[in-house]
Amino acid sequence: MTVSTEFDLHDLGWDASWEDAFEPYAARQLIPARVAVRHHGPCELWTERGSVGGVPAGKLTDEELPAVGDWVAARPLPGERKALIEDVLPRRSAFTRKEAWRRTVEQVVAANVDTVFLMSSLGPDLNTRRLERYLVGAWESGAQPAIVLTKADLEPDHVAAVLDVETIAFGVPIHVVSAVSGEGLGELEPYLRRGATIALLGSSGVGKSTLVNRLAGRDVLTVREVRADGRGRHTTTHRELVLLPDGGLLLDTPGMRELQLWAGEESLDGTFEDVAALTADCRFNDCAHESEPGCAIRAALAEGSLPAERWESYRKLQRELRSLEIRRSKRLQSEERRRWRRVNKSMRKRA
Ligand code: GDP
Ligand code: ZN
Repeated sequence: MTVSTEFDLHDLGWDASWEDAFEPYAARQLIPARVAVRHHGPCELWTERGSVGGVPAGKLTDEELPAVGDWVAARPLPGERKALIEDVLPRRSAFTRKEAWRRTVEQVVAANVDTVFLMSSLGPDLNTRRLERYLVGAWESGAQPAIVLTKADLEPDHVAAVLDVETIAFGVPIHVVSAVSGEGLGELEPYLRRGATIALLGSSGVGKSTLVNRLAGRDVLTVREVRADGRGRHTTTHRELVLLPDGGLLLDTPGMRELQLWAGEESLDGTFEDVAALTADCRFNDCAHESEPGCAIRAALAEGSLPAERWESYRKLQRELRSLEIRRSKRLQSEERRRWRRVNKSMRKRA
């Protein structure tokens, strides 16, 4: 016996436009499902029939594999709590990362996120440079960012910290919370609407799991009983997608935790609006901001209106993005060459 509750798809974020996107699949007797957990084996799918194991169909390439948060078209296997994932519905937002260093294959780590909480703890660990990075990732993903500063109870005076974060936030809302005292948690409620998906992004120790448990009102990192093939066994399951009692879904996957920067350079401008505005004022269009006359960046640095560390942070991110771009275009070139070789070969055969 497998314990499995049924889901109302609207609790999981299903709406009229997903319904439209799904029409061709419904005609083929496939069912909609949301990917709740993704590990190396089958992933966990949430469907109207409850939770089932999902196995990607062989025709899906590595790049087409579903990620946590994806809506998929699944074919239930008769008599089994399993389904074949035949396709992934077009994503509304996606967080991607490099799979491993050097490999420039984009891997989607979370999909269809509405809001992303960019988390950092108050006190000595507060890291505005890291928040800046997260902001770049958030704008690139298509999800709406909100900055959440945690452990307010440890830092009674957080005015200075908030002012500091404001200098990089550019209108992104900032919330100061404590999972211990409960301070500020009410401010997060508007994000947790029924069917909304909220991802947590922040380094280890900032309090993500604690916040998940607090908002869920229970420990979601628990040992639960799973019975497969009629045999009882215990496994510890980390829920990557957590359905909150009053609506809303929290997405907390290990992939998000190690998110590496993967963004086009243009997304830097969203995070560094001040830098972008200044460079537009440089006398020369191709100003390298080194020693050119009329350089607005140099002038702002000299008078202190652009902090040196912010400029360095921008330069560093820009360098990382450029090296990624170069690796990506090299990969595309070699793929192109391989393709042509294949075409040539088949033409020679035919001739
Ligand atoms: P994660 O790695 O981001 O999931 O962080 P955890 O949720 O595991 O929290 C790391 C540590 O910070 C734990 O010891 C928590 O008890 C503690 N912690 C989390 N939230 C708060 C908070 O709001 N206030 C205080 N004082 N400690 C917190
Ligand atoms: Zn310049």
